[in-house]
Amino acid sequence: MSKPVILTGIRANNDLTIGNYFGGILPMIDMAKSKSDEYQINMFIPDLHSFTTPIDHSQLYEQILHNARLFVAAGLPLDNPNIFLYRQSYIPAHSELTWILDCFTGFGEMSRMTQFKDKSSGVSDGVSVGLFNYPVLMASDILLYNAKYIPLGDDQSQHLEFTRDIADRMNSRFGDVFTIPEAVKSQHEFFGKDQGLRIKDLIDPTKKMSKSDESGRGVIFLGDEPAVAAKKIMSATTDDLAEIHFDRNKQPGISNLLEILALLRGVKRDEVVAEFEGQTRYGDFKKVVADEVERFLTDFQTGLADVDDSAVIAKLEQSERDLVPIAEATLLRAQQAVGLRPKAN
Ligand code: ATP
Ligand code: MG
Repeated sequence: MSKPVILTGIRANNDLTIGNYFGGILPMIDMAKSKSDEYQINMFIPDLHSFTTPIDHSQLYEQILHNARLFVAAGLPLDNPNIFLYRQSYIPAHSELTWILDCFTGFGEMSRMTQFKDKSSGVSDGVSVGLFNYPVLMASDILLYNAKYIPLGDDQSQHLEFTRDIADRMNSRFGDVFTIPEAVKSQHEFFGKDQGLRIKDLIDPTKKMSKSDESGRGVIFLGDEPAVAAKKIMSATTDDLAEIHFDRNKQPGISNLLEILALLRGVKRDEVVAEFEGQTRYGDFKKVVADEVERFLTDFQTGLADVDDSAVIAKLEQSERDLVPIAEATLLRAQQAVGLRPKAN
């Protein structure tokens, strides 16, 4: 029996933020390292998802490699044969299965997706069909590899439920074609409940820090010039209570900075809160956080510059070679089911 598959990816549409790093990449890498004895880990770069919203295409190819390098700089081992690192578009079955599933997906079903509603509202230069049906591509990403567990944030829960629905619909109609991934609830149980980490935007600490934020003024990107990032911390929005407490409702800005400092230092939040609780000089506190951010980015960027590109590319190509036959076997089952290929005897 092959090992059950855990599958995860981060869209390469922009440089990643410290939110993506602490809330996405690091937990993913920890998970990959701790579970790779028992599970097959598929970590992929969803490059076809990169331009569901407009991007600068002259940068895309480099951005994809850059994201792979980021994983390595953050500690992903390249020599673990149970961890696969691959680019979605290098495995054509993703696109092919998507088309088949598209034709069994309801227009109304996709219209109800809250991510579509969120990401399409306020877009002035046209909403693409790609943004509309990207959950179908996401379903293919999961179903092609018979994946069971997919660590996800709440914003993706609805898409996972759709994946289960479409897999179940195809199976009921055509027999056993797909493995159905576990439901959202058991995903949360499997990965532990503590998935709620959310670094907030520095300018508007009531919303989360996001890599596709328009201005980027409240966002720390992993590629930011360390001194520029430090300035962003110094101009973070705080409050006029003039006393440091961890209180997300009354002091969202200060609380966010406390959280960021704890993550950067790799210590528990309580420890940082105990150190600064009751202090009144916000400027001094911000300076501590700013220095820590500057140091973190300097170190991270040095590590990133040392990543061996040829090793990264070799890993990507090896994983892609290994996974193509698995993806194609699933695609063939789907093609046989709908009558595009003769049934096996
Ligand atoms: P986008 O605007 O493109 O949705 P994003 O920054 O929200 O960008 P996602 O691609 O949605 O990023 O998420 C990638 C990973 O980063 C996920 O694991 C998500 O949970 C995590 N993540 C995103 N933003 C934050 C944040 N502010 N704090 C902690 N984790 C985050
Ligand atoms: Mg997001």
